[in-house]
Amino acid sequence: MNLYDAHNHLQDAWLAPHYPRVFADLAAVGVRRAVANGSSEADWPDVTTLAHAHPVVLPSYGVHPWDAGNRSPSWQKNLLAALDANPHAGVGEIGLDRWMTDRAKPDDPRLAGLRVAPIEEQTEVFLWQFALAAERNLPSSIHCVDATGLLHDLLRDARRPARGFLLHSYNGPEEMVAALAKLGAYFSFNANFLDARRARLRGVYAAIPADRLLVETDAPSVRPPSSLEKFPLPPTADGVHVNHPANLAATYAALADLRGVTTEALATQVEKNFLRLFGH
Ligand SMILES: [Zn+2]
Repeated sequence: MNLYDAHNHLQDAWLAPHYPRVFADLAAVGVRRAVANGSSEADWPDVTTLAHAHPVVLPSYGVHPWDAGNRSPSWQKNLLAALDANPHAGVGEIGLDRWMTDRAKPDDPRLAGLRVAPIEEQTEVFLWQFALAAERNLPSSIHCVDATGLLHDLLRDARRPARGFLLHSYNGPEEMVAALAKLGAYFSFNANFLDARRARLRGVYAAIPADRLLVETDAPSVRPPSSLEKFPLPPTADGVHVNHPANLAATYAALADLRGVTTEALATQVEKNFLRLFGH
């Protein structure tokens, strides 16, 4: 059984001290590809280094909405250079985030040192990157928090990549799934949706069309429920939880259970979907 992690951040410094163990565990559970998403100009070189060292890693380069406010004046030129140098690369992580602008506490440690870009500025940065994915027909990985309606309207009116695009950790309303799928969306399931407080999302992922379903870890971010955490890692020096990407295997099993299919049947479907969207 081949497994595919549609969205993560393997280049992250939180995982770097554990690489030998992490990559051995990924191979042991059958992970064939893992898409490592750069989120700012600062981490793109690390994505490239990792992709060169480990064929399991598919690189992706983008400016995340959290990092949009700190992009350099030459960010577009730098993104084009990263994509030109890595022909298998995708565009991501890109997107829109209204939690950051409307709900986050100003002292939230996750936003420390970042200039919060207003939604208009995030939209501009997102649309430029999405247009690039459309023009080159590249896979793209989209983050969206508290902005599903806006994202839908932007996608509807934009030129879109012929191959489709990924709404990673889609957590919007179930009623919008059909309209987004019609525009070309794929949806990746994260184990964090199995948290008891997020029961609504289990309904959403039971209803996603089988040919648009993917699975992800977002590692090292996001905490799976402890029952699914088969590969624990020590926390960071600041005491932050670190999600091991091999927890993907338990995520597949949980999603298969939720959809009432065998893990093998789910893995076969997800493999087809992954190869259709990402091409490798
Ligand atoms: Zn991510």
